[in-house]
Amino acid sequence: MAYIEFRGICKSYDGVNQVLKNIDLDVEKGELVTLLGPSGCGKSTLLRSLAGLEQISSGKIILDGEDITNLPVQKRGIGMVFQQYSLFQNMNVEENIAFGLKIAKMDKLTISEKVKKAIEMVDLLGKEKSYPSQLSGGQQQRVAIARAIVMEPKVLLLDEPLSAIDAKLRRELQEKIKNVQKKLKITTIFVTHDQDEAMIMSDRIHLMNQGIIEQSGKPVDLYTHPVSKFAAEFIGHYNILDKSKLNILLPLEKFDDGFYAIRPETVQIQGEPIMDNGMYTFEAVVENFISRGNVLRYTLRCGDVFFTSEVLFRSFALFEEGQKVYVGIEPHNILSIRD
Ligand code: ADP
Ligand code: MG
Repeated sequence: MAYIEFRGICKSYDGVNQVLKNIDLDVEKGELVTLLGPSGCGKSTLLRSLAGLEQISSGKIILDGEDITNLPVQKRGIGMVFQQYSLFQNMNVEENIAFGLKIAKMDKLTISEKVKKAIEMVDLLGKEKSYPSQLSGGQQQRVAIARAIVMEPKVLLLDEPLSAIDAKLRRELQEKIKNVQKKLKITTIFVTHDQDEAMIMSDRIHLMNQGIIEQSGKPVDLYTHPVSKFAAEFIGHYNILDKSKLNILLPLEKFDDGFYAIRPETVQIQGEPIMDNGMYTFEAVVENFISRGNVLRYTLRCGDVFFTSEVLFRSFALFEEGQKVYVGIEPHNILSIRD
């Protein structure tokens, strides 16, 4: 039995449009799992249902063997951090973190010990007396995390906590959150719409699409084995070709009807013919290319089929626009996917 079990979760706000469509999901104790998906797919609704902030239309939620479907928020033992910094503005860092413990009527000495530990955990020593307005967004979010973990919740829920924070600091905070989570072994559900963030953070990713779980798995498995067009587009920027397009590249090969996904970095290109019997090879023309830092992304054309190839930025691999190139793809890198 899993630590958290979502069983047949359905939710609609207006009784008509289903926001969550019969979701079954297991989360193991101590894992950090991510709900990944585009805006509006139901990530927050699912998270808020677990917290008790949203009532589900049907289904059952089990936490640590207990049916919590109808339990009030404060009895669920769940800590939550949101995208917007929701600190008490009139309280300093220490007071913000201590708030929940005071409400729980813990004694002063215990409170001050726990608060100190939580402050250490998120690297905010020296900021105890600062007010939220005196802190950066990243620091405020660390206070919010400390305020949640100091309560020693059974589950920590993080709803796009880093979305408002700029890229460089975001990397640091991703690492920070991961470290805290591993140290405390606290079961955590992290919500993001950012593929890279999900890859970096997660033990497991659950990819959501319009109220369903499209695919679940370890980050590398999702990246290398998308099951559908949606997953291939969302996670690896795959080339997606149907049978007829694939046959324009490879007229001599037999493919079944349906769709195929090819990851750009598995599309090899070179200036001379490729001599490798194990590879599918064909010719194409470079339409254009862009440099994304250490990676060059070529848009190639073969007949009227466009596709991309990504290669590490090494000077000898530069091809000009309009140049003919030879393309090689290993057969196992052409994945059959569903529509
Ligand atoms: P996500 O977090 O993945 O962006 P949400 O769970 O917030 O998605 O929303 C899922 C869908 O439910 C969206 O179409 C959204 O417009 C709708 N929705 C969310 N909250 C409410 C609400 N309180 N009333 C009506 N519709 C809502
Ligand atoms: Mg949301």
